[in-house]
Amino acid sequence: MSAVLSLPLPDEVSRQAALDAYAVVDTVPEQAYDDIVRLAMSLCDAPAAAISLVDHDRQWFKAQIGLDVRQTPRSEAICDRAIRQPGHALVIHDLEAQSLYPRTSMRIDGQPLRFYAGVPLLSPDGHALGTVCVMDVRPRRLRQGQREGLEVLARQTQHLLELRRYALEQRRLLSEREALAKRLEDARADLQRRNDQLEHSATHDALTGLLNRAALSQLRENPAAMAKLQHAPYTLMLLDVDHFKQVNDRHGHLLGDRALRAVADAVAGSIRHDDVAVRYGGEEFLILLPDTRLASATQVAERIRQHIARAALPFPLTVSIGLAAGEPTRDWSERVFDRADQALYRAKATGRNRIVADDTWRG
Ligand code: GH3
Ligand code: MG
Ligand code: MG
Repeated sequence: MSAVLSLPLPDEVSRQAALDAYAVVDTVPEQAYDDIVRLAMSLCDAPAAAISLVDHDRQWFKAQIGLDVRQTPRSEAICDRAIRQPGHALVIHDLEAQSLYPRTSMRIDGQPLRFYAGVPLLSPDGHALGTVCVMDVRPRRLRQGQREGLEVLARQTQHLLELRRYALEQRRLLSEREALAKRLEDARADLQRRNDQLEHSATHDALTGLLNRAALSQLRENPAAMAKLQHAPYTLMLLDVDHFKQVNDRHGHLLGDRALRAVADAVAGSIRHDDVAVRYGGEEFLILLPDTRLASATQVAERIRQHIARAALPFPLTVSIGLAAGEPTRDWSERVFDRADQALYRAKATGRNRIVADDTWRG
């Protein structure tokens, strides 16, 4: 018997892991556990009772009455001996008459312990976690009913511990679910961002940031966008950079690109939110101005021309602009485009750096 009681527990690592799963050691006192200890004390008519948990190298009391400490070294813990016979209560009638059990420095009202009775607390897979125990300062016995009552209290304590572990597990699952939902949401947002980027690069010109020709085709297939043009007079503007080939030849392609960006900035900075600016060709731009008559569109064109003339470039840059009015009910866009193109041609032919509005049709 003595050899068994002093040996380390055969599966101490799993036993400790089972205890750790409750995350109960070093928690604050709780009424439910305190009540069990109070019941054990009055049931057994003892001056001290405890719920002891055997942790690494100590025993720690989740609840206790009558003792002068909250924990003791494990080497002093009689409970550590009780858990070596998990199926039974350990009752020691007189500790002084026994040499098998450790001497404890724990006191009840300043007096050493003489009597101990402890019922092991078991995890569902049979690991002994600690005990529900009662202690006294005089040698004594436990009646059958008291022993059975103590066993009932041990089972109640096990239920409390199981509830605690279940709640912890639920909380862990919930936070895992929340983390998963967050990861999913992040991935969805990332996908959306990539989609937006893809869509943007499919419809925008990389050099100037304006819409590209593909976007213009989409616009013509978009009934909502086209409806806007059918409700009010609109103006189509074609802009072509003057002698741009020379710019490239004299100043290099990089400065040529910078000049194109300056033109795009001048266009973007001069139009309204609803207007549509497209880089239509290499150095050609198309600007669609819904709900705009030719006279106001000419003012916009003049603003663009002046912005470009003032652009911060190491050489002068000018543009020619052709405008044509569109009346949706009496006209159609290809014809408007042709008339704007002819106006642009006239601007080029009559000296460039100018705006020509088509006058072949008046609404
Ligand atoms: P015009 O006044 O009659 O319009 O003469 P132009 O030289 O502007 O017209 P042309 O059509 O002969 O030349 C257009 C030039 O634009 C030729 C081409 O190398 C240049 N170009 C087209 N796309 C780009 C570009 O993305 N970057 C640069 N740097 N140059 C471009
Ligand atoms: Mg051109
Ligand atoms: Mg040109």
